Amino acid sequence: MENCIFCQIISGDIPSSKIYEDDHVLAFLDLSQTTKGHALLIPKTHVRNVLDMSQEVAETTFSRLPKIARGLQKATGAKGMNIINNSEEIAGQTVFHAHIHLVPRYSDDDSFSVNYTVHEPDFVALGQLAEQIAKEVEQ
Ligand code: AMP
Ligand code: ZN
Repeated sequence: MENCIFCQIISGDIPSSKIYEDDHVLAFLDLSQTTKGHALLIPKTHVRNVLDMSQEVAETTFSRLPKIARGLQKATGAKGMNIINNSEEIAGQTVFHAHIHLVPRYSDDDSFSVNYTVHEPDFVALGQLAEQIAKEVEQ
């Protein structure tokens, strides 16, 4: 897609530090290097984000994750990894070509952290919400 920075990386018009490529996906180092080895995995098909992704594109994209993550861990010596997708602006998406962040983790005080609030469980509300969502999920 014209004007998409990640499509331009796929076509080679913009350079990238490639770590994996096949017919369906490309993985390369994120310029921001939140931690050493921070990488992005993208489908070669232009889709906006996970909310916009077909099962077919999801299968080819997500199925590559474990082997790329393992290679990244081996090369960097990371102890673990955060694997993140930001879908839409409210969730922090800034580049609107779907991508999965692989952020290798080295210690509690490396330059990445995950913070979210944990609420006391309300089992009635959980049950009702689950039912409502399940109805909306395509079979
Ligand atoms: P997000 O905020 O989830 O949309 O992430 C977009 C990511 O793309 C950011 O972490 C940027 O650092 C990264 N990024 C933007 N342009 C490039 C580029 N040309 N090469 C590598 N990473 C990029
Ligand atoms: Zn694109």
